[in-house]
Amino acid sequence: MVSASRKTFLPLDPVTFSNESKAVIDFIADYYENVEKYPVQSTVEPGYLSAMLPESAPYCPEPLQDILEDVSNCIIPGLTHWQSPNFFAYFHANASTAGFFGEMLCSGFNVVGFNWISSPAATELESIVLDWMGKMLKLPSSFLFSGTGGGVLHGSSCEAAVCVLAAARDKALKELGGWENITKLVVYASDQAHFTFQKAAKLVGIPPSNFRLIETSFSTGFSLSPENLRFVIEDNIRSGLVPLFLCATIGTTPSGAVDPIAELGKVAMEFKLWLHIDAAYAGSGCICPELRHYLDGVELANSISMNPHKWFLTNMDCCCLWIKEPKLLVDSLSTDPEILRNNASKSKAVVDCKDWQIALSRRFRALKLWVVIRRHGLANLMCHIRSDIAMAKRFEALVGEDERFEIVVPRKFALVCFRLKPKVEEEDLNCKLVEAINSSGRAFMSHAVLSGIYVIRCAIGTTLTQQHHVDALWKLIQDKAQSLLM
Ligand SMILES: *Cc1c(COP(=O)(O)O)cnc(C)c1O
Repeated sequence: MVSASRKTFLPLDPVTFSNESKAVIDFIADYYENVEKYPVQSTVEPGYLSAMLPESAPYCPEPLQDILEDVSNCIIPGLTHWQSPNFFAYFHANASTAGFFGEMLCSGFNVVGFNWISSPAATELESIVLDWMGKMLKLPSSFLFSGTGGGVLHGSSCEAAVCVLAAARDKALKELGGWENITKLVVYASDQAHFTFQKAAKLVGIPPSNFRLIETSFSTGFSLSPENLRFVIEDNIRSGLVPLFLCATIGTTPSGAVDPIAELGKVAMEFKLWLHIDAAYAGSGCICPELRHYLDGVELANSISMNPHKWFLTNMDCCCLWIKEPKLLVDSLSTDPEILRNNASKSKAVVDCKDWQIALSRRFRALKLWVVIRRHGLANLMCHIRSDIAMAKRFEALVGEDERFEIVVPRKFALVCFRLKPKVEEEDLNCKLVEAINSSGRAFMSHAVLSGIYVIRCAIGTTLTQQHHVDALWKLIQDKAQSLLM
């Protein structure tokens, strides 16, 4: 008998860990073997799960086998299969074997690297990987630790947006002489920018009426016009407002549009705006020399973020944020409680990641990105991007050859926006087409509305998508269109 004061079970016994982990890994491998057999978009009804699971937690431990069986029977039917090669909706969330290994190591060590001493390797690897990544994107040295800037990993672009907005806000309020001036600060973005920035601006206290969405149109391919921006800024200044922040996007969510960074950068400099570049999706593509020009002018920005968890073979979650003046981020976000002080005898200045993000606790995400980069190498990472772009190009050509369809906005990355040509008598034709495709279970696509026009988005780029999947998708689209048009 073990005394009552001691645990009578071992929640982390290396032997059990080794044995049972293998079963979980086999389970996941089996999932990938079969992922194409499931309907891509889940077909369950809201509330389906409570009908399948007990109302309260079990008192006694349950065997792993039973749990995995429930995952098969109850959870998998309620999944929309983001890793299916027939997933063409939103922007993809790339998973990879290397990304999974990185996650395992991160989860396995389970360290909490909020400051340097809480896990020196976590902080230092993060700095190294951010510099690696920044160099792959050919960011100027003003964004790198090896230069005069630095970077940090966040869980999402939304968190990165909150942090850089807070830094910009605090810098401006200091210059303006007090918090009461917060009602004067204005944030700008195009009407194609991600809603995450609107949310972030609200969270840092910018009055919602001071978030200015600048209208875009077909004529500029939905990119933000520097002239229109200047016009709104000058008008705001005349009204006594203070321009604070501009979010420019490389690869917008609705259509993959690219804002002209170099020209916007000049306007931002002139009016002393903080320029942030949101390259959440398309940033990964910019590792390829032929796409890097979209980042031209990045030297004029104050900060830039992108999500390796979208198109860079890195399992959720991982967002890179680089900033030219990390001090401004730290000024805004640092707290210095005694309990978290680094050992004062350490002479060299160290990064305390807690001061670069919202939360205190943080995962060792750098390990994941490091494994992804090393296991693939720049060569295969570029190959991944290029093969998706080649498939998107081919899909775009197929759509263009069918006179019933049209490409709505020219493709820049691996997102193709198209539609059935409008017929006056059938306004919601394209919406019906998307529904017909998605309810078939054989593919999943989403849509956007551009200048009032409903467009179908085909985002190519799950890790498993191959040419034959894209060809099958096009055949499916043609078949469904045929029945709708009949
Ligand atoms: C996906 C996306 C975001 C949001 O990213 P999160 O990491 O989910 O916050 C922001 N901007 C763009 C352009 C995106 O495509």
